[in-house]
Amino acid sequence: MIQFDKIGVQSIREMTPYQPGKPVEELERELGIGSAIKLASNENPFGCSGMVKNKCLAEMDKLAFYPDGNAYYLKNALSEFYSLATDQITIGNGSNDILDLLARSFLAAGDEVIFSKYAFLVYPLVAKAVSAVSVVANSLPADHASQPFGHDLSAFYEAISDKTKLIFIANPNNPTGTWVSYQLLENFVKKVPSNIIVVIDEAYFEYVVEPEYQSAIQLIADFPNVVVTRTFSKIYGLAGLRIGYSISHSSIADLLNRVRQPFNSNSIGLAAAQTALTDQKFVEACKERNNNGMQQLREYFDSFSINYIPSVANFIAVEFKERALGIYQQLLQRGIIVRPIANYQLDDFLRITVGSEQQNNRLIDALKEIL
Ligand SMILES: *Cc1c(COP(=O)(O)O)cnc(C)c1O
Repeated sequence: MIQFDKIGVQSIREMTPYQPGKPVEELERELGIGSAIKLASNENPFGCSGMVKNKCLAEMDKLAFYPDGNAYYLKNALSEFYSLATDQITIGNGSNDILDLLARSFLAAGDEVIFSKYAFLVYPLVAKAVSAVSVVANSLPADHASQPFGHDLSAFYEAISDKTKLIFIANPNNPTGTWVSYQLLENFVKKVPSNIIVVIDEAYFEYVVEPEYQSAIQLIADFPNVVVTRTFSKIYGLAGLRIGYSISHSSIADLLNRVRQPFNSNSIGLAAAQTALTDQKFVEACKERNNNGMQQLREYFDSFSINYIPSVANFIAVEFKERALGIYQQLLQRGIIVRPIANYQLDDFLRITVGSEQQNNRLIDALKEIL
């Protein structure tokens, strides 16, 4: 038989697939139990707004039809929500889809894309798929006072070359939970040549309570090379329906829409997202409960002198040193899934999603037993 792995495009052959968090059902099958919990993929432990389900049910009658490829209603809802024009919004099959559209729209073979050392693993993947060159900007040191392992925007700036086309900055960042102030971001964007696209990935925007933290959306008016991505997968609790979007200058949205698959997002997801957006009470409640849950986890780690990276998102990277992988496995045995992040070069850490109070207690009890 032909060795198909030899005839695939070289850049694709060199790719390592993204490893998602272990699904709850898989662990339950393996252990023969029925009460596993997943604190591994930064999903919302409180589900989604109660208003969404009825909207999804109503959509069931229309499954034979293609979705609205132009996402008319969702784009209108978002444009009203942000007071922006509808042609500034691009809808993706999750914001991962948007990241891919950005790479395909702006990166040709040999072009350079910059992201930080501990950045979201989807950035190198979408770059590699189009044979672009990933340039890694060093992150802040582990002993940095406020943002250990955080983004170092001066390192990003120094990494810029004639070949740079795209910059990915997650704010807050995954897997570190660190963040960049609006002031620093604005200063950075001012210095970046205006023909380089600066993507600010705000997947965890809604969780942040820091007063110096602000969305980069307001930068777009003055800096049309800035693109902001958002998602319904995190605080809105709709990860399974795959709806994300970008906000950008309309001419960038125009490009993204040329490479976008005509029906990249599904009809139930579009309807659910539109409804979810109207329930900001749910978002506020989740933000508060996440804050309390983060407090709960930090108190436990502090009282047992367990080190962690201070996080403003709905997850926390905890340092278990050489025991990290062992602890991951021992937690699995107890029906708790967390995330090893050795593939982010953080071998000594486990990333733990903040759960409900009850889930956090279960995690803490298990860790007390193990440690
Ligand atoms: C979870 C996450 C996303 C969201 O991905 P979707 O495709 O919208 O589910 C985007 N960026 C980062 C950094 C994330 O952690």
